Amino acid sequence: MPTRPIYLDYNATTPLDPRVLEAMLPWFTEHFGNAASRTHLYGWEAEEAVVQARNQLASTLGASEKEIVFTSGATEANNLAIKGTFEARRTQGTHHYITVATEHKAVLDPFRHLEQWGADVTYLTPSPDGLISAAQIAEVLRPDTVLVSVMYAHNEIGVVQPIGEIGALCRAHGVLFHTDATQAVGKIPVDVQADAIDLLSLSAHKFYGPKGVGALYVRKGVKLTAQLDGGRHERGLRSGTLNVPGIVGLGKACQLAAQEMSTESPRLKYLRDLLEETILQQVPDTRINGHRTHRLPQVTNISFGGVDGEQLLLHLNRLAVSSGSACTSASVEPSYVLKVLGLDDALAYASLRFSLGRFTTEAEVVAAARHVQEVVARMRNQVPFA
Ligand SMILES: *Cc1c(COP(=O)(O)O)cnc(C)c1O
Repeated sequence: MPTRPIYLDYNATTPLDPRVLEAMLPWFTEHFGNAASRTHLYGWEAEEAVVQARNQLASTLGASEKEIVFTSGATEANNLAIKGTFEARRTQGTHHYITVATEHKAVLDPFRHLEQWGADVTYLTPSPDGLISAAQIAEVLRPDTVLVSVMYAHNEIGVVQPIGEIGALCRAHGVLFHTDATQAVGKIPVDVQADAIDLLSLSAHKFYGPKGVGALYVRKGVKLTAQLDGGRHERGLRSGTLNVPGIVGLGKACQLAAQEMSTESPRLKYLRDLLEETILQQVPDTRINGHRTHRLPQVTNISFGGVDGEQLLLHLNRLAVSSGSACTSASVEPSYVLKVLGLDDALAYASLRFSLGRFTTEAEVVAAARHVQEVVARMRNQVPFA
């Protein structure tokens, strides 16, 4: 059997940690109750498991458990935050929203929807290193600005935004602040109090939890209109029977990430730097996209000048990496994020995101760097591939 490619696409999704799976298993079978069943043990024990997971998540965010709304993932959390705010505020005649052109589609598309509903949305362009400043936001704030949405850490380039400064600015102007923290939670410390965050989205499968479960943090007092109506679960903000095993997995994954972050983060940074430095040194005409220091420890996005991007991915068959984000890679479009940062189409095509994770080893990183070096050299020297 051919060996499977080296997985360096942890920003697309992560495998479930076996300890998370173990915590989840009983909640599929023996303890299968509906957390909303208030009349018997099956319901009570499921409800108790959900309470524990809610506490685990709340404590990693510096939130209160009453401020957590479980969802099917970050896409749903972003939709609830953005559309839910619009619907709750539309009668007050305040319609201005601010976001960034490099946000994930799960933020940009809900804002497109708001525009169709009559909102005025400002899409800011970050500097070429991917950073957005509080000053840039201050410049476009209006008396009728309702909400600012800025991603915490970027899925494609790993850039970590000055979230605390942006939060403080929004708070001072009485504007709501939402952040898509899907790539930050579990990787770097996130504190909704310190950063004055009102709404925060996350998804369990980005930090070794299961797919199909996530959450929206909703600061006490923030008004949202539910996007799913029904049995009034989650304080009426998200109806639908709770995914108990998924929620248990999310809680366990949070707890593990919090426990291991202080050792895991420097380990990943060491491996990322090793990969990056080896490629930059051994492959001519390469450059890193995004700010070199204000970024996540486990991701690098590298452009390879003078090679065809599609061919590059094809020949790198011993690696599982991505060009652009997984959500848009079904189509052969160059990354819109890299284009916003000023790359031309050809260079944006020839850019790869390498994202490492909990199960990445030094041997894998060394092998990956060597493979990249060999493939690019062959392509540039036009040596045919056997
Ligand atoms: C993965 C991701 C999402 C979408 O998460 P889902 O679990 O697919 O809903 C949203 N935002 C960012 C930044 C992501 O990385």
